[in-house]
Formats: sequence, C-alpha cells, structure tokens
Amino acid sequence: MKIAVIGSGIWGACSAYFLKKSGADVDLYDMWGPGNSRSGSGGASRIIRLAYGKDKIYSELTNKSFKFWEELSKKSERKLYFENGMLWLVTQNDNSYIKNSIPAINSLGNEIIEMPVNIAKKKYPILNFDGVNEVYLEKKAGILLASRCCKKIVKEFQKIGGSLIIGEVNVEENKLNKGNGITINNKKIKADKYIIACGPWNQKIVPDFFNKISYVSRQEVYFFSIPNNNNDNYKIKNMPCWMDLNENTPTYYGMPFHLNKGFKIAYDERSTPFDPDKSDRVPSPKLIERTKKYIYKRFPGLKNLPITESKVCQYENSIDGNFIIEKHNLSSDVLIMGGSSGHGFKMGPGIGELVKDIILKNKKPPPFFSKSRLINNKNLSQYYNSQIKYKSEKKI
Ligand SMILES: Cc1cc2nc3c(=O)[nH]c(=O)nc-3n(C[C@H](O)[C@H](O)[C@H](O)COP(=O)(O)OP(=O)(O)OC[C@H]3O[C@@H](n4cnc5c(N)ncnc54)[C@H](O)[C@@H]3O)c2cc1C
Repeated sequence: MKIAVIGSGIWGACSAYFLKKSGADVDLYDMWGPGNSRSGSGGASRIIRLAYGKDKIYSELTNKSFKFWEELSKKSERKLYFENGMLWLVTQNDNSYIKNSIPAINSLGNEIIEMPVNIAKKKYPILNFDGVNEVYLEKKAGILLASRCCKKIVKEFQKIGGSLIIGEVNVEENKLNKGNGITINNKKIKADKYIIACGPWNQKIVPDFFNKISYVSRQEVYFFSIPNNNNDNYKIKNMPCWMDLNENTPTYYGMPFHLNKGFKIAYDERSTPFDPDKSDRVPSPKLIERTKKYIYKRFPGLKNLPITESKVCQYENSIDGNFIIEKHNLSSDVLIMGGSSGHGFKMGPGIGELVKDIILKNKKPPPFFSKSRLINNKNLSQYYNSQIKYKSEKKI
C-alpha cells in the first residue's frame, strides 16, 4: 500500500515510521523538515508525564510511548530522554485533576505519590512552597528533547527505506472525494491513503474539516539563567519537571536546567490567536514581566538573572482540548490528525501505532478523538477546565 503522510512533526513522523516498519510504502512530506522551528514539535524540550485526570486514554497512550522513547534514546548518538520525574504543586483548593489520575497511573503499573510539603521543602530547596497545599511526584516522567526526537525518528524511518520529501503540499478539499486534490509543485501526489498531520497549518490545508472545531494560540517559552555557582539543585539530577495547578495565574510549568540552555519556564494559556505564517515570534515585554513576577516568587534564587533564550510558538487546539483523529468526510482514504492542543508530543509514538492500525488494519479511531463530539459542543472538556482557570482567559 502506498501512503503519503503530510507533515513531519511528531505525529506525522511517528505515523510514517510505524507504517513503514509494518511494510507499507511510505512517503513523508514537509515544508521545512522534521522538528523545524515553526512547527509545534520544534524547540528544545517537552514534558512527558502520565497524569491526565479522568482521561485515561492519554495515560495509556503515554505509557505505550515510554518504551519507544527509551529505546530510541538508547540507540541515538545524542540523548533524547531524561527521566527526572514530574512534581505537581497544587496551589488551588481543587486537587481532583491529580486524584482522578491515580487509578489510571496505578493500573499502568506506575505511581504518583503525595509528598508532605515539609519533605518537599527539604528535597527541593530552590522552590518556594508558599501557597502550595499539596505536592505530588510522578517518578516515571521527564524531558523529551523535542526537535532532536523528530529528526531521529525520521532518520530511522529513512533507514528502513522511507522517503522524506521537502516542499509545500497543497490540498483542494472539494476534490478529495474524487481521489484528487493533493499536490506538490502542481503534481498530484499518488497514493492509496493520505494522512494529513499539519498541526497549526491544518486549518489552512483542510479548512472545511476544521471549521469551528479548532484554533491556534500563541505561547511563550523562556530559559532563565541559573546562578553562576552552578547550583546542582537547578539541574536534572536533583530537580524534576514541575507544574503549578493554580487558580489565579496561568498554569505555569517548567523543567530544570538542560542542554546548557537554562531553567525552562512556560505557561499554558490558550487565549491569544496566532497565525503560524504571519504572526511575529518575538516575546512580549508584558508577558515577560508577568512570568518574572511568578518565577521570582516560586524560585527566588533566579531573581534578577537574565533570560538566556526565549521562543514564541503555537498550540493547535481543538475547542475541547482533546485530539481529533478521523477520516475526512469527503474521502475515507484521507485520515486527518489534529487538535493536539499543547499536549500531543509525549504520546507521538502511541499515536503513530494507533494510526498504523487505523490505516493497515482498518481499526476505528477512538470515539474520544472523533470530530462529531465537537459539533454543537462549545464546552471545554473536564481536562481543559480543570487546568485552566485564568480569570481573564477569553474563549475563542
Ligand atoms: C510551547 C509548547 C510547549 C509544549 N509542551 C508540551 C509538553 O510539555 N508535552 C507535550 O506532550 N506536548 C507539548 N506541546 C505540544 C506538542 O509539542 C504538540 O502537540 C505536537 O508537537 C504537535 O505535533 P504535530 O505533528 O501535530 O504538529 P507539528 O509539529 O506542527 O507538525 C506539522 C508539520 O506540518 C508541516 N506542514 C504544515 N503545512 C504543510 C504543507 N502545506 N505542506 C507540507 N508540510 C506542511 C510543518 O512544517 C510541520 O513540520 C507543546 C507545544 C508548544 C508549542
């Protein structure tokens, strides 16, 4: 079977790899290449963790992905994965997100444990626990080196005979029903099956499919310098990734010093629209100030240390924060993957395997990822609500 995968972000790359490994003839297309700076999968790093509230499907997909990441990291000349754990700081009164995660994590043979705040204070002396009611630690969690992972998967895909083609693919959605409409340089891409995994560009490439069910939002990410005395408490061996479940500010999260870049911090606030082709990728002074205010309080040792690097990137959100994986209504030969909603990197391998089964074994995509669930549903999901309660957030 000939398969064309459009988009070599983590979803397209993993899908192409698993399909190729199962014997299909696969061509992978991308405008700028795997893990490019503008893609959702670009940049230095992403968190992998199992806690997903009630949404067990994500814990399962993540759990499936761990093995792949560990093996890929082992055979890579450069490290791809650090298992340094994930610390959850519950500063709001509602701990249901964590509590609801426990059964799924335990059923997968892993654990998330509550750590008394006084113990956490001793273990993580760089952290100011003011206002933190509860602390939880997931041991099986850590950092994936994002852009590197994409490049390595595509290398492995090429090693087993897959082709990577660089160029802009165009789709005329109204021609899909006749098996046409997908071209590169004005030439039809001939395949039996097509997979469209263009992340933030999905809305441009198949606008009718994504009409009113997704939007793209702007995110800023910063690396802060750590003290010159190279305090080991800021480093991977002593500090897990962390997330602050907070009611009054955006959800801030971060990772310890890695890749010699700095102490990473970002926020999860899906409210500012972004155009991946037109919007500037320069951080805003206002948001930098807001972040400094937060980080200087939570990590006082970073006070007045400069930002060493920053990045503006985008989430491709579905309106309920859950993924969308479904065949196009005009052609059952075209599978659409989208709505990764700022949390799709970690489970790329699990998603890739799922797509392989949908294409080669005719497996039905999980109803949880169906497009139909979004029609007439303007409510944000439980998962989305329970993390984001920032008061000024506008719904788009
Ligand atoms: C700041 C930030 C932090 C995040 N943190 C986490 C995290 O900690 N953990 C986590 O799991 N996830 C995280 N995510 C989310 C995760 O990175 C994304 O969900 C995931 O990378 C999306 O992958 P994708 O393959 O769907 O899209 P993309 O990576 O955007 O890939 C789409 C690809 O399609 C290509 N393309 C687009 N249009 C065309 C065209 N016309 N022709 C050819 N090629 C085309 C692009 O070049 C691109 O390479 C984060 C995202 C951001 C932005």
